[in-house]
Amino acid sequence: MRGLDDLAVDGRVVLLRSDLNVPLSGKEITDDGRIRASLPTIRKLADRGAKVLICAHLGRPKGDGYAEREAGGPSLRPVADRLAELLGRPVPLAADVAGPAAAQIAASLNDGDVGLLENVRFEQAETSKDDAERAGLAARLAAMAQLYVGDGFGALHRKHASVYDVPGLLPHAAGELVLAEVAVLRQLTHDPQRPYVVVLGGAKPSDKLAVIANLLDKADRLIIGGGMSYTFLAAQGHEVGKSLLEADQIDRVSGVLAEAAERGVEIVLPVDLVGATSYAPGAEHDVFPVTGFPADRESLDMGPATRALFASKIADARTVFWNGPVGVFEFPAFAAGTLAVAQAISAVHGLTVVGGGDSAAAVRQLNFPDAAFSHISTGGGASLEYVEGKTLPGLVALEDAG
Ligand code: ADP
Ligand code: MG
Repeated sequence: MRGLDDLAVDGRVVLLRSDLNVPLSGKEITDDGRIRASLPTIRKLADRGAKVLICAHLGRPKGDGYAEREAGGPSLRPVADRLAELLGRPVPLAADVAGPAAAQIAASLNDGDVGLLENVRFEQAETSKDDAERAGLAARLAAMAQLYVGDGFGALHRKHASVYDVPGLLPHAAGELVLAEVAVLRQLTHDPQRPYVVVLGGAKPSDKLAVIANLLDKADRLIIGGGMSYTFLAAQGHEVGKSLLEADQIDRVSGVLAEAAERGVEIVLPVDLVGATSYAPGAEHDVFPVTGFPADRESLDMGPATRALFASKIADARTVFWNGPVGVFEFPAFAAGTLAVAQAISAVHGLTVVGGGDSAAAVRQLNFPDAAFSHISTGGGASLEYVEGKTLPGLVALEDAG
């Protein structure tokens, strides 16, 4: 895959696809990690005299057609402002994605300037399954630039116009963030040191069941906690009360458990749970063994025996991939399980990778320095799919010569 050094960017408009999809609370950015992670490529391009035209998405705009989506937002305005602050230079935001305002911003950039296009998902074609629709938008984006750099790692698993189609239209290279992410994740898929332990949490098993099935022939041990673990416990016949449960997934979960047993992959599930009276930060709560969970309680975290069990199953690992908090860490009273997992992983001698937006937010909220892990990925879905051994459309497009 070509990198920035392989492109002569001086004086040319470079369309840079970045991942600036940060969590927002109203118009406040609550974690600017993805913006910071995008800076090295932006700075390098600007330092080399490129006219940097950034294309990015934010959230999931809804509605039929551009006007409706634009009205509903979210606009990249707060991101443009934060980016300008971090770069210490103005970052004009185009009022549209690939229309007259965008073309005008592109034409107004001087060598070394940085501009940002409005939320690319205001264009419905960006995420369209119809190749021709995506191609139309891709052509309009490409028309504004001479070169393309793909640096939005968190979007590489999407077959979207700005990720997958534009690189086919312009000479292109991968950015620094994409190269760094891929270098680490490759180590997970190419002969990882063993034991290789995968820790999976998060809210829903349906999101990640396919992942578990795909990891059965890669990992030595799978630790399953958090919201997704209750469906596994239910599949084993345990009462889980009012905890998150996807009853329609129980058969699939049973299938996965049977296959793991057949392949000799160890699956580690919770043995005790913190059961709360409601889903609230201050809810009353007690610890229950999984064999005696009350029907009127809701589990929001792993119990102390589970924390110790998970830690012991992580301690001997030489490679760890972790995706998904194992409790509702957003409520401090229910963050102990996630804290225990993070502590155990940070003590591992070997390669430790944290992937997932909420997982990354959790370790920051729990005050772990980034250096506590080998790598904190900026991409949740993208890193999961890579680790599963899937091909990422955006990566394929960047690897193609052109
Ligand atoms: P990531 O973004 O790291 O991939 P997910 O989006 O899959 O993670 O899941 C994160 C969410 O899962 C968090 O908001 C957290 O509150 C929720 N969660 C974790 N454990 C539980 C639990 N035991 N009960 C309810 N929700 C949970
Ligand atoms: Mg998430």
